[in-house]
Amino acid sequence: MTTNALDYQKKNLSCFKKQLNYLYDNNKLYQKKIIENDIDLSSIKKITDITKLPLLTKKDLFTDYPYGFYSTEIKNIARYHATSGTTGKPLIVGFTKKDLITRNKMVIDICKRAGIKKNDVVQICVGYGMFTGAFSFHDALEEYGCTIIPTSSGNTEKQIFYMKTLHTTVLITSPSYAMHIYEVAKEMGIDVKDLNIRILKVGSELLTDEMKKRLQEAYGKKVIINQDYGMTETMGPGLGSECKYCNGLHLYTKNFVYELVDPITKLPTDKNVGELVISTLHNECLPLIRYATNDIVEIDYTKCKCGNNAPRIKKIIGRCDDMIKCKGVKIFLSQVEDFILKHKFCTSNYEIILTTEKYIDKMKIEIEAICDFSEKDEKIVKQEKRLIEEFKSTFGIYAKIIFVPPNSIKRQNGKVKRIKDLRKL
Ligand SMILES: [Zn+2]
Repeated sequence: MTTNALDYQKKNLSCFKKQLNYLYDNNKLYQKKIIENDIDLSSIKKITDITKLPLLTKKDLFTDYPYGFYSTEIKNIARYHATSGTTGKPLIVGFTKKDLITRNKMVIDICKRAGIKKNDVVQICVGYGMFTGAFSFHDALEEYGCTIIPTSSGNTEKQIFYMKTLHTTVLITSPSYAMHIYEVAKEMGIDVKDLNIRILKVGSELLTDEMKKRLQEAYGKKVIINQDYGMTETMGPGLGSECKYCNGLHLYTKNFVYELVDPITKLPTDKNVGELVISTLHNECLPLIRYATNDIVEIDYTKCKCGNNAPRIKKIIGRCDDMIKCKGVKIFLSQVEDFILKHKFCTSNYEIILTTEKYIDKMKIEIEAICDFSEKDEKIVKQEKRLIEEFKSTFGIYAKIIFVPPNSIKRQNGKVKRIKDLRKL
């Protein structure tokens, strides 16, 4: 975000300084970092001065695991949540009672903006457990006055049973699971359009434009597809969320200060695209100052019809973790997904497999076809050839693209892992 955009957030300067001093006073690791960087905290006089402060990374948060970056005594922690830790140890985030109140307020706020009402029946189809998603919505919406159906993820036929029996009006899920629910319902002879769902609130994965189109087709035009964005480090959903007009994720400037940096140089950028850097304003257990999120986003500063003046994340281009580096070319998963879903013959179930052969990267993409087949006929082979050619001209590299019959790629509840990188093995 430009320095001008930070200027836009200058009303947050006093809260920011309070949070900064709190972190400095209560966390030895941060204190050390500030002293090492030779920074005088009293030199932060205007909002743009915050760029003088060092960036924090996920690696920092793992120092003196698990409590190193906490700014409160352990006895004050009311709840733990954690990241999935698929690539190593999970990052464990503590919440004090005050943190939980801050989060509830924020989640109620974003849900109200999405059009969720007190009389809504909300089915939470995301995994309960250490993840922040399910509990964030559960706690907040129950407090707000909604009726909650805590079905968690998995057991899709049962999910559909509850949806039908208890007249679910809001479905909280991930885009891929929403699509899976549609498929299973179809097999059960149920058209999800006939259910009472009016809002599909999706998060925890990227929602690409093409995926949104598919969901809209599946659930019908009446259903509002509303997206939110967050991460465990920042207490879960709420970092960005769409209003009822669903035209980008409004930044939540009540709780955070947002900046953009160049993903390579890590210096502030004037462009509308860059890596998102977050500072919290009210956190007690894990305050973050200039935390580099690893997420590349595009910001939209135009005014929204809803009257909320906070800029919006127009597009989450990708998480640095979702970037595929193959034969020296960098491709975001979201770009591959948009490419795949542009083709009517493809479903949203696909897997990218990366291997090496004699030190050379190889990419294979398996895509479930829209209709069943036992042997590949001419039509399928022709489609494969077409996709391979188009992929090459779009991304500049060759990928072997093959169609597989429907339901042959393993479904994973909760987060979907689309990339299988076998090169590291
Ligand atoms: Zn809006």
